[in-house]
Amino acid sequence: MSPLEMETSAIVLDCRDYGESDKIVTFLCPKAGRLSGLAKGAKRSKRRFVNKLELFSLLHLTYSLPRHGELAFIAAAELQASFLSLRHSVGLYNAATVIRECTLMGTSEKERSEKAFEILLWALRALDRKQPSHTVVILFLIRFFEYIGYRPDLLHCHHCGRSTATERTSEFNYMTGCLICEACSRHSLQTTVPLSLGTIKLLANAQSQPLERLHRLQFSLRAREESLNMLHHFGRQLFQRDIHSWKALLDPEGAGLKARYS
Ligand SMILES: [Zn+2]
Repeated sequence: MSPLEMETSAIVLDCRDYGESDKIVTFLCPKAGRLSGLAKGAKRSKRRFVNKLELFSLLHLTYSLPRHGELAFIAAAELQASFLSLRHSVGLYNAATVIRECTLMGTSEKERSEKAFEILLWALRALDRKQPSHTVVILFLIRFFEYIGYRPDLLHCHHCGRSTATERTSEFNYMTGCLICEACSRHSLQTTVPLSLGTIKLLANAQSQPLERLHRLQFSLRAREESLNMLHHFGRQLFQRDIHSWKALLDPEGAGLKARYS
């Protein structure tokens, strides 16, 4: 390794052909944040990069940064985990794709992102262990939105301040990221989605549990549907654009894998 080279853990978020023989790869790294780099000869070299630059792979990366310009130079990549299960299941793959799209939108180049890296790695490992894919997406998003500074307030009504712990159903205002109790919701705006008490408790639990305990949270069908609906609306509001891969998440026979491999 030359003195200018650096090493890091990295998860592959994007990989595109560049010219006749190279690839441009985007990674999430704990300290370097979102990092895009040129993998020279990656389209041809069977030795250096083969099977390593697949989406979601966890790598040990050796790279250098040029004085000018944006792209890092990828010197070497060692495969640490390829998360094979999620490449063989449409449902798991589609879930990983939503997680990937949100990670790309919510992280910045050269901004330390240890927490985001930790949450992303947790989600990929959970999917690889074939944990329920929709639940993994819910748990990832609730923690990821907190990481980017938008932790939903799931304890109190935003209008009257009362605890929502005794409300059968509350409304979640995805414009403000706050709950509105049943009494106040009569006067609320159109930017709300319903959340039942059970769902609110699960989501609040997901905010407070350490990552290694998240897999214990079990969501009923109703809790999954309400959570996904709430997080989809909230995510679109935060990113100010659609989450394109969401459609395939709800339609496992749909476009996800076909688009990837066609
Ligand atoms: Zn209220």
